[in-house]
Amino acid sequence: MELLEKVKEAGVIGAGGAGFPTHVKLQAKAEYILINGAECEPLLRVDQQLMEFHPADVILGLKIGKEMTGAEHAIIGIKGHHKKVIEILKQTIKELNLEGEIEVGLLPTVYPAGDEMVLVKELTGRIVPEGGIPIAVGCVVMNAESAYNVYHATLDEPVTMKYVTITGDVPKPITVKVPIGTPIKEVLAVAGRTDFTGYKVINGGPMMGPLFDDLDGYVTKKTKGIIVLPEDHVLVKKKSRTLITAARLNKTACEQCSKCTDLCPRHLLGHSTVPHKMVRAVAYNAPADENVTAALTCCQCSLCEFFSCPAGISPKLANVFYMNKLREAGIKLEPKKEFVPNPMRPYRMVPTDRLIARIDLTKYDVDAPWTEEAVVDPQVVGINLKDHVGAPAVPLVQAGDHVEAGQKIADIKEGALGATVHASISGTVESVQFNVITIRRD
Ligand code: SF4
Ligand code: SF4
Repeated sequence: MELLEKVKEAGVIGAGGAGFPTHVKLQAKAEYILINGAECEPLLRVDQQLMEFHPADVILGLKIGKEMTGAEHAIIGIKGHHKKVIEILKQTIKELNLEGEIEVGLLPTVYPAGDEMVLVKELTGRIVPEGGIPIAVGCVVMNAESAYNVYHATLDEPVTMKYVTITGDVPKPITVKVPIGTPIKEVLAVAGRTDFTGYKVINGGPMMGPLFDDLDGYVTKKTKGIIVLPEDHVLVKKKSRTLITAARLNKTACEQCSKCTDLCPRHLLGHSTVPHKMVRAVAYNAPADENVTAALTCCQCSLCEFFSCPAGISPKLANVFYMNKLREAGIKLEPKKEFVPNPMRPYRMVPTDRLIARIDLTKYDVDAPWTEEAVVDPQVVGINLKDHVGAPAVPLVQAGDHVEAGQKIADIKEGALGATVHASISGTVESVQFNVITIRRD
């Protein structure tokens, strides 16, 4: 089987949160292939630990991606302060005789260094056009865990396990490897938290991850972190705001100081993003028309609402408000032709430690030790068929079927963008409904 077919068959998707099918990404011809090892979300540890404990797998996944895309340059992007991991990566590159073929590129310890557009700028000097994707400037970006999965795909090992950091207000922060589809509550129990009275749980990083509506869900191919916080924590309060409450607050409290725009990472790249103007537009009930298409350039990093705004309001949600309206109306962004980074950009990037202090996470910024022991042994898994960008996968099994771990249980819809899905445990299919296949261990 060709490499591309193996990656496709293994069901590899962007493990960093986006979920774009990797086999499609790797069909592009690129000049650069980049590993996103920035892990810019505070408290998450998975990518650094994966590069520390499985450096060869990540590097070889990148090498395979380099061959597939024909890229001249392959760079692992990692923040400069991760000195130990950087040393391990360099040493492994040497041992694999890949010096000159794979590089380690250092990123500043700022938020959001892992935003694809910021990453591309830092590692290549190129600016991805607003509304575009990295291949527009000859770059393909893969998350560190996706590269690891690409390597394992070439060994005919499909994606059935997920690395997840569980941290925050838990007795035992930890990073674990669990079968995809493991119930969230069982993963949280490993970190010592089973009673959630007075707590809320974030699905992902503290900046971009939403609050779980309930904890009855399952680990997916994109789950990177699960963070528990007291329900009166500032982040929980801000994340609980709706578009309506945010609009009301924005109308009354915005000082139009434009600090949200001054520190916006997309604005600093020269993109059209202007959150303070979106807040003003909401305040004046401006219609969703060509005058507010700058909202479509926002990457929803939350920096403006959790860090920049002195009034504590939600410029991001003003962008989201117009984004939704513009999409409903079918109004598209007319991208600018040229992008000149703001000359103040180097001085306006937000150091991660200042961000952590501002959002009151300093006491939770602790190690989450890595284990590969089978700390969770789920009796039932719920495997999502629409984890990825594109059409939901088409089930190949039905209730009552016996499946083996690693068996393909859903396939890409004919002619559509998508990803295959595999059983993460051996057992009997209990149900196939609502785009979830439930399997009970024998
Ligand atoms: S930083 Fe806050 S107060 Fe200042 S313009 Fe932006 S939303 Fe308004
Ligand atoms: S969320 Fe705010 S800071 Fe982040 S890109 Fe959007 S407007 Fe800029």
